Amino acid sequence: MKQLLTLLGLFLFSHAFTQTPAWPHHKKAVIVLTYDDGLLSQLDNAVPQLKKAGFKATFFLTSDVDSSTIPRWRALAKKGFELGNHTLYHPCSPSEDVPVTSEHYTPIQVIREIEIMNRILFAIDGRNGRTYAYPCAETTVGGDKDYVDTLRRYNLVKYARIGGDTGAIITDFHHLDPLRIPSLGLEDSTSASALIDYVKSVQARNGMGIIMFHGISGDYITTDKAVHQQLLDYLKKNKKDIWVTTFREAMDYATHSSTPPPDSH
Ligand SMILES: [Zn+2]
Repeated sequence: MKQLLTLLGLFLFSHAFTQTPAWPHHKKAVIVLTYDDGLLSQLDNAVPQLKKAGFKATFFLTSDVDSSTIPRWRALAKKGFELGNHTLYHPCSPSEDVPVTSEHYTPIQVIREIEIMNRILFAIDGRNGRTYAYPCAETTVGGDKDYVDTLRRYNLVKYARIGGDTGAIITDFHHLDPLRIPSLGLEDSTSASALIDYVKSVQARNGMGIIMFHGISGDYITTDKAVHQQLLDYLKKNKKDIWVTTFREAMDYATHSSTPPPDSH
């Protein structure tokens, strides 16, 4: 009896501290598809595939939007896609393909960019409660000045996405910093099997996995659209177990265990 109680105690203890949220509609894991830099290849190639599959996703935009793309982003937001903040000018550590470098930025300068980008996004979709992705997944500017805590004080964004690797599987939401949420950054020409293996490992741990895309059969850090389609096919085939939703919706649910959204499938 005593042994049984000890076992029961251990079971309750382990569940209290390691259990991921009970995902909505009895799903076992969450996958968040995110696309950075507001690229045309995303609008032209990723969006039609996402719409056909019935999945919502998150697009992190900079001020590099114009009279031809703004109506397209607005239309997507109306359909439930999320537009996230990726600063105005995308400042990053110096390298040859970085037009605006961050080495002379102060934390407050990048905060100001995020604030103004929030206004541009509000003008596009009329929403508040914005999410953010650090340009080049760097949380520092001015060399080594980390600006995460400055961003926190200004209360401009609810959640912020950093980089990571294939180990970026979120299971512990109690100790997760909402402004340092890891994601799977992709190399050029990532294979479908690598993406699907990542999803499978997220499923195995009942966790949340966030994938960071750039170009889709175009632009840069490119994922082939056939590969992108194969990932969506896998997600669709496993829709009973995998919840595919936006960054904001997934995090709202995970951190507040809010009312489950209607099941779109
Ligand atoms: Zn970017």
